[in-house]
Amino acid sequence: MPTGDDQETLLLSVDFEDWHQLVRRRVGVSDWERPGPALGRQTEAMLRLLDELGVRATFFILGMTARAHPHLVEGLSRRGHEIGCHGDRHVPVHKQTPEEFAADLRAARATIEDLTGQRPVGYRAPAFSITRESRWAFEVLAAEGFEYDASQHDSPRIRRRVVPSRDAPHPLELTDGTLWEFPVAVWRRGPRARVPVGGASYWGVLPTSLVLEGLRASGPMAGLYLHPHELDPEPLDALLPSSASPSQRVHGVVRSAQRNVARRRAPDVLRAIAGRHRLIPYGDAHAELSGGAATRS
Ligand SMILES: [Zn+2]
Repeated sequence: MPTGDDQETLLLSVDFEDWHQLVRRRVGVSDWERPGPALGRQTEAMLRLLDELGVRATFFILGMTARAHPHLVEGLSRRGHEIGCHGDRHVPVHKQTPEEFAADLRAARATIEDLTGQRPVGYRAPAFSITRESRWAFEVLAAEGFEYDASQHDSPRIRRRVVPSRDAPHPLELTDGTLWEFPVAVWRRGPRARVPVGGASYWGVLPTSLVLEGLRASGPMAGLYLHPHELDPEPLDALLPSSASPSQRVHGVVRSAQRNVARRRAPDVLRAIAGRHRLIPYGDAHAELSGGAATRS
């Protein structure tokens, strides 16, 4: 991997979830929670690419996906990647009470600890869903023993989003406890214009040169995020059961088509980014900035 003083560091993460579980639940088919058929090959492609680039990432693990694919989660941990938490059921934070949110965190963490022997200290909310009305979530995270959050994303597509007070990593002001915030990379092109260059879902619609220019402008230690389905070597197909209704089928086709655009381009865009930036897991950055011990063994 190239190194050098002019290479700004970026933080690499994967929201580790089973696309088929989520799309089947969204479409409303029964038995949506059973393991999807593609996460194994997606994970293999992801790990191969990270090895090729010589980088480690933070995998924010979804509890219900970990229970469906325990061997995959064990493998991520064995390969030396940082294990973080993406909650348990992928329910938007703003749709939960503080008590439900705490219970969701505990359920995910119990599953993850059981499989990996590691206690995750970093959290990424499903769909960046800590809104201005659910800022209490940061207090809950600190109270539950989390040390950093990576959920603030100033993307115009996120309604009622919390705009980070700074683009660089920073400790949040809490009534009790400490929690670091690591915002996702966003390119600010004017007082109002924001280009969310940190997410692989956007890499499908932006020229690579613009993604690189935007990341250069996003500041040091900005966050990148991918999903396993964005590295799927095969086209995505919702594979709905034969009992699915016509409207469920249409919904499945639309979800597949949207995701396939990003999927085709993500590996090469990540290679281009890795050619210009040092990519590290969030936990390494947190350890460096907070002066704490490294969060991986
Ligand atoms: Zn997610």
